[in-house]
Amino acid sequence: GVPEVPARPIAERRVSRRIQVGPVAVGGGAPVSVQSMTTTRTSDVGATLQQIAELTASGCQIVRVACPTQDDADALATIARKSQIPVIADIHFQPKYVFAAIEAGCAAVRVNPGNIKQFDDRIKEIAQAAKDHGTPIRIGVNAGSLDRRLLQKYGKATPEALVESALWEASLFEEHGFRDIKISVKHNDPVVMIEAYRQLAEQSDYPLHLGVTEAGPAFQGTIKSAVAFGALLSRGIGDTIRVSLSAPPAEEVKVGIQILQSLGLKERRLEIVSCPSCGRAQVDVYKLAEEVTAGLDGMEVPLRVAVMGCVVNGPGEAREADLGVASGNGKGQIFVKGEVIKTVPESKIVETLIEEAMKIAEQMEQDGVGS
Ligand code: SF4
Repeated sequence: GVPEVPARPIAERRVSRRIQVGPVAVGGGAPVSVQSMTTTRTSDVGATLQQIAELTASGCQIVRVACPTQDDADALATIARKSQIPVIADIHFQPKYVFAAIEAGCAAVRVNPGNIKQFDDRIKEIAQAAKDHGTPIRIGVNAGSLDRRLLQKYGKATPEALVESALWEASLFEEHGFRDIKISVKHNDPVVMIEAYRQLAEQSDYPLHLGVTEAGPAFQGTIKSAVAFGALLSRGIGDTIRVSLSAPPAEEVKVGIQILQSLGLKERRLEIVSCPSCGRAQVDVYKLAEEVTAGLDGMEVPLRVAVMGCVVNGPGEAREADLGVASGNGKGQIFVKGEVIKTVPESKIVETLIEEAMKIAEQMEQDGVGS
């Protein structure tokens, strides 16, 4: 089988302090976690819990819910209690909801120092309440809502401005002995965002929540996030990630998980190695890869399946995988663990691959791989 974690990690993880978001550890060498945010009205408890259940099923480990009104604040206790994954309340503008979220038993609270007025005066009380309940706080600085003072000082949301805002806010909490903090400094431009996190990583040991804010629709947002997170995680920077897409949140989770798997930071599940096809292809590779992917969707074991269009690289790649097909002449050579086990007509390739994949998966499960 494929090793669950590559022999050589992409980078030494930056040494960060560890916080607990409910049962999920963030920082201090804990696995990088994937989070997302609900799009329902939080006050609609049923719909919100339904979406949280869908997110949980897609592999989301931490979920954030917005809390713009008193009705939303009132819903937090039920949501926090019934959610299968830790719930973070996202608070803008209103310090009173920070207290409500802490009281409601949320696993953490996200505050945005740039837009909570009179926030600084109330830090002492917030720090005390958070300490009493063991609730960590994320200081979430966002380019779009940067502190006016810092905007004036730097002219725009530069990396330095984002970092200064975050560390200044953290220092206010620290003055009151509260250090149960993680930080994010989001920007929609990956170049600015990467530099901001790099500086932040150098200047503090807080665990970091990575995000490219307003990353855009699925295609653009996926690429921006993958590039930015890849640049940071490959330097060991980042403890939890949220991909922001103008798309359903379960899509964000899929992308987040795929990013971590690509970097070897999360155990790989199903991986389809398929060729891009070219003038030599003797089979419709796109269709074949899609059908195999669909057929194996939900597979819980780390399985690498090669789908190759011809016999040039086909047999080589298929041999490297747990399972594969190299097509040619209207037939498919099916490989398992490097051996051709049979040759089937093109029309039988998909079902044969799925059959063989199930057998391998069963074997892996018996051997305790991927559990
Ligand atoms: Fe082309 Fe064959 Fe390579 Fe696929 S495996 S890209 S068909 S040469």
